Amino acid sequence: MSSEVKSIHEFDINIICEYYSNFQRQGPGSKEVTLKALSFINNLNENSKIVDLGCGTGGQTMILGQNTAGQIIGVDLFPTFINIFNKNVQQFNLQHKVKGEIGSMDNLSFKDEELDLIWSEGAIYNIGFERGLKEWRKFLKKGGYIAVSEASWFTEKRPPEIEKFWNDAYPAIDTIPTKVLQMQKAGYVPVAAFILPENCWTENFFEPQIEIQKEYLETHKDNTPIIEFIKNQQYESVLYNKYKQYYGYVFYVGKKL
Ligand code: SAH
Repeated sequence: MSSEVKSIHEFDINIICEYYSNFQRQGPGSKEVTLKALSFINNLNENSKIVDLGCGTGGQTMILGQNTAGQIIGVDLFPTFINIFNKNVQQFNLQHKVKGEIGSMDNLSFKDEELDLIWSEGAIYNIGFERGLKEWRKFLKKGGYIAVSEASWFTEKRPPEIEKFWNDAYPAIDTIPTKVLQMQKAGYVPVAAFILPENCWTENFFEPQIEIQKEYLETHKDNTPIIEFIKNQQYESVLYNKYKQYYGYVFYVGKKL
């Protein structure tokens, strides 16, 4: 079966974007996990500048906005997500401190040592974990923090089916000790690394998709690219349930000295 399944890179970005604009989150996560990662960060006050890179529609950014002092800018490549993000800002009454901007994480225009905190949930893979950590570091003040979640292996060895899936989707997936070492080598003190609980995937990521997938399959019967995309999403969920002891998302928090 796995050889017939396409990798996520083969799908039209517009299909992916429209599909994910139906959800509060575009990746695995939860309010509890965002707050847990935030609990390791102790340098924030009302003058702080925070950015959330690859913010999507802002599920986690609104939680940051409600629980931190300072200003937050959410950055995402896709205008559809930023539109929804800025509507969410109004709904949460956070317009005095949160705003969404279109931009790319590989071409940021912040000043050197301008930021107190760089946040990125389930998005640094777009630039690559090591490259993101290295390139973004200059924007942080000394003593500033970075907090990112990233797909990681939990074991040294994995069954071939799941190994193949991730090597197609994101070959830079690696074990937790390797990622922690990469963070240290990129110039941060690793402050925390913790595994996201399963409900971040099941309840918060796969389950909300079930209804929308049904709708898509019914309303796009003749649209092969969309049907293939939905099947791919369903396969991802099957794989997670089958192999969740081997991989998941891990939050990594680092401090720039
Ligand atoms: N942080 C959100 C979204 C994660 S999905 C959440 O956890 O729910 C990954 C996000 O990265 C998507 O919103 C996608 O549009 C965004 N993205 C992809 N490439 C990007 C780039 N080069 N610069 C900024 N954002 C990017």
